[in-house]
Formats: sequence, structure tokens, C-alpha cells
Amino acid sequence: MADCNETLRELETFLDDELSDGARSVIHSHLDGCPDCLQAFDFHAELRTVIAIKCHNDEMPAGLLSKIEQCFGQDFDGDGQIG
Ligand SMILES: [Zn+2]
Repeated sequence: MADCNETLRELETFLDDELSDGARSVIHSHLDGCPDCLQAFDFHAELRTVIAIKCHNDEMPAGLLSKIEQCFGQDFDGDGQIG
């Protein structure tokens, strides 16, 4: 049975569709019982979709970039240092 660390380590490979059937079913069964990992996988899958869309279009959709900046910008406020 895979634990969370093991599952998250396979995340990128899983999303690249480069896992064997066996390894993939292990991950699927872990995600079935682990909302935390499922959320992480969902987030990364969505991120890939956004990046894929961006790669197909030279221009970022208006508003999307500023939205992303807004999300990340919150960490850089103040003295410009993280944490
Ligand atoms: Zn987990």
C-alpha cells in the first residue's frame, strides 16, 4: 500500500501518463481513500491544463495572468521577502 509521500512522488509521472498499469492502480486506490492527495493531484492536473492552454495561445487570456499574479503576489507583499 502506497503512503502519501510515495503517492505524491509519483504525481508528475502519473500526470505524464508514464506509469505502468500496476503503479497507476495503486495510486488510484490511494486517491480513493485520501482526499489530501486527491486535491494535490487535482490541483496539478488543473495547472497543467492552464499551461497547455497557454502554450497553444501566444497570448495569455486577459485577466488570467493578473489573477495568477494576485494569488502569488500575496506572498510577496510587504518587505518583498517570503515568509
Ligand atoms: Zn495520501
